[in-house]
Amino acid sequence: MNQSTDVAIVGGGVIGCSIAYQLSKMGINCTVFEKNRLASGASGATAGMIGPIWYFDQTSEPYFQLGMRSFEIFPTLVKELEEAGIDPKFQQTGAIKVLLDEINDAVLLDNLKWQRELGIGVRWIDRKELTDREPEITGKALGGVFSPKDGSIVGVAFVNALAHAATRLGARFFEDVEVMGLEINKDKVIGIRTQLGIYHADHTIICAGPWSGIVQRWLPYSIPVRPIKGQRILLRKSGFLPKSTVQSIVPQKDGSVLSAATREEGNFDQVVTGEAISQMVAKAKEVFPILHDAEFVSASAGVRPGTPDGMPILGPLPGWSGVSLASGHDRLGIMCSPSTAKLMAGFVATGDCSQIAPFSIERFGLSGN
Ligand SMILES: Cc1cc2nc3c(=O)[nH]c(=O)nc-3n(C[C@H](O)[C@H](O)[C@H](O)COP(=O)(O)OP(=O)(O)OC[C@H]3O[C@@H](n4cnc5c(N)ncnc54)[C@H](O)[C@@H]3O)c2cc1C
Repeated sequence: MNQSTDVAIVGGGVIGCSIAYQLSKMGINCTVFEKNRLASGASGATAGMIGPIWYFDQTSEPYFQLGMRSFEIFPTLVKELEEAGIDPKFQQTGAIKVLLDEINDAVLLDNLKWQRELGIGVRWIDRKELTDREPEITGKALGGVFSPKDGSIVGVAFVNALAHAATRLGARFFEDVEVMGLEINKDKVIGIRTQLGIYHADHTIICAGPWSGIVQRWLPYSIPVRPIKGQRILLRKSGFLPKSTVQSIVPQKDGSVLSAATREEGNFDQVVTGEAISQMVAKAKEVFPILHDAEFVSASAGVRPGTPDGMPILGPLPGWSGVSLASGHDRLGIMCSPSTAKLMAGFVATGDCSQIAPFSIERFGLSGN
């Protein structure tokens, strides 16, 4: 079989599906190839927290701007996806970083100085306001930083909503189809090879998460993306649900409580371990002691795509045309997916790399070709 598409996307996680959606909105024909099921990687095992106060600090430009841009896009994007037919299960519950001991004091309060200036309502709440909002919070909590516009989304629902909306606009999605190689003509990638045959494409985007290094089997290129496994659990306690995300305890729309996450360097497996479950139960109980006898609902594991400097790699592979990379979002892939997708779609449509230049693979000084 010999088929064609304008843009071939390798990987049906949040990054691949977000890009497919933005390209489709621009009227660019694209096809996503996923070797398992959509959202079967990190995107389906995520905690789904969306907000600027969690992992960023003001020194992490330009990643911080990518996150802030996404944060602004989320409410409109969610509306579009709902209108297209699938609820991505987004909730704007606010998030609280709790001060549990004096040691954390300096960092939390130092960050609050710049977070206050973001204009999104981040503020200190004292113990009284904290316990009014979260009556079951541990007695050890001294107060906290509250970010009222933070939210969360369910990874599987979000990815499926993006794929559904993109399909309605003409994109195609293949599941259980592995991309096994690239079609190359001199220094141009002209398509991909799959079990279904060759697909010719003007542009191929590698969005294979922690597996993005696979490119180096096909091109003489070194891709500095490494696996960082993460596990999460869901608990349920009758009559109890936090109002907001507190630390990394995230209330779910179905009444369960998500506790996340482990960080296991260099690990590609998606196995759930007893040790990780115990750690996350302990973490949840530390914040909300009422969870000590909660029902254990489920656990899952995914592999984050990490990079040497913690920032994603976006854009072309120098020395080659017709191919680019969008991967390496580590712990912020859900949060940063909308702005990543807009930037990548803009680059594919115009060939202009200036907006994504700060995320170029060239920053690692690697040579291709
Ligand atoms: C426990 C946990 C908690 C997290 N919490 C948060 C959070 O609160 N907020 C946040 O923003 N982020 C969070 N993250 C990170 C976020 O989930 C990831 O950054 C994001 O999901 C990465 O998306 P991706 O599309 O790059 O990769 P993936 O979701 O891994 O998608 C890549 C896809 O490519 C497919 N693939 C690979 N090779 C091929 C091939 N050859 N052919 C076809 N398909 C292929 C894979 O099967 C996979 O489905 C968390 C992650 C974990 C694990």
